[in-house]
Amino acid sequence: MADQRARRISEFIEPLRVRPGRSVNLRDFDPRRHSKAVRKKKQGRELLQTGIAMLADYQARLAAQDTYGVLLCLQALDAGGKDGTIRHVMSGVNPQGVHVAGFKVPSVEELDHDYLWRYAARLPARGDIGIFNRSHYEEVLVVRVHPELLDRQKLPPESRKKIWHRRYREINDWEHYLVDNGFRVVKVFLNLSYEEQRQRFLRRIDVPERNWKFSAADVMERRRWNDYQDAFSEMLSHTSTSWAPWYVVPADRKWMGRICTAAILVHTLIELDPQFPTVSDEARARLADARTELMAQAPDAGGHRNHRVPAGARHGAAV
Ligand code: ATP
Ligand code: MG
Repeated sequence: MADQRARRISEFIEPLRVRPGRSVNLRDFDPRRHSKAVRKKKQGRELLQTGIAMLADYQARLAAQDTYGVLLCLQALDAGGKDGTIRHVMSGVNPQGVHVAGFKVPSVEELDHDYLWRYAARLPARGDIGIFNRSHYEEVLVVRVHPELLDRQKLPPESRKKIWHRRYREINDWEHYLVDNGFRVVKVFLNLSYEEQRQRFLRRIDVPERNWKFSAADVMERRRWNDYQDAFSEMLSHTSTSWAPWYVVPADRKWMGRICTAAILVHTLIELDPQFPTVSDEARARLADARTELMAQAPDAGGHRNHRVPAGARHGAAV
C-alpha cells in the first residue's frame, strides 16, 4: 500500500522533472498542464489532503531522526503563487520543524559579502524543512535581467568574466556539497502564463483586500517577460542536476501548483525515509523503571496522592 502510494507519487511528478543536462525552453512547458491522475479540482483537493497528512508524518520522523535536512527552493514570477503554496502545503506540519526564509533586494551588509552568503546563513538545520521563498536563483535571474544589480555587488573585474556560467557551476557545486552533507535540495519553479499573471494582477488592483499585494514595480517587471523566460530557460538548462533536479510545476491553476509541490516534497521525504530512533535495551530498562515509579504515584480512589511530594519537587522550591 505504502509502496503503491510512493510509486504513484513518483509517476505523478516524473513529467515535471527537468532532465539533467537537457537544454530546455520554458515556453515549451504548459502552465495549464493536465495530469491523468487529477482531472478535477475536487480530486485535487483530496490528493492535497493526502499529501499534507503524509508530509506531517514524514516531518515528525525527519525531526526525530535529526540526521537529514530538506531545503525547498521556490521560484516563480510575480503572482506565481509562492505564498499560497507555502501556506497550503505546510498547513499540517509542526511549525517548529519548518523555517521559511524570504529573500528580497539585498541589504548593504549582504552586498558586502559573496553572493551566496545570505542564503547560506538561512539554511535549515538537520531535522528541519527549510523553505526559500525566492532563493539563490535570483542571482542568475533578476540580476541577469537587470545587470545594474550586478554593479551593486562590487565584484572585482576578473570575477565578472563568464559570470553566468560560473554562477551556474558554483550553485551546482554548493548544492552538491549540501546534499553530500545530508541536506536534500528540492527546487520548484511555479510556471505561470502571461495571461494568468495579467488576471492575477488585475484582481490585486480590483479587490481592495488584495491591493497591498500589488506593486507598480510588478507591471514594470512584466514588460521584461521575454527576458525572464530566457533567463529561466537558461537557469533550468544549467542547474537541473542529478543531485538537485528542477521541477517545473504548472501554476495557472493554483490547486494544481500546490498538489505538485506537495507531491515533490513528499517524494523527497519518501526517498530519505527517516525513521524514529530505536531505543537500546538499556534505555528501555530505564523507561520501565520510570514507568513503575510514575504508576506508584497515581492518586488513590479518593483522589489523594499516594506519596508525599518530595521537598525538591514542590512548586517554587529551590532544588
Ligand atoms: P509577492 O509575491 O508577495 O510580491 P515577492 O517575493 O515578490 O512577494 P517582493 O517584496 O514583492 O516579494 O519582491 C522582492 C523583490 O526582491 C523581487 O522583485 C526580487 O526580484 C527582488 N530580489 C530578490 N533577490 C534579489 C537579488 N539577489 N538581487 C536583486 N533583487 C532581488
Ligand atoms: Mg512581488
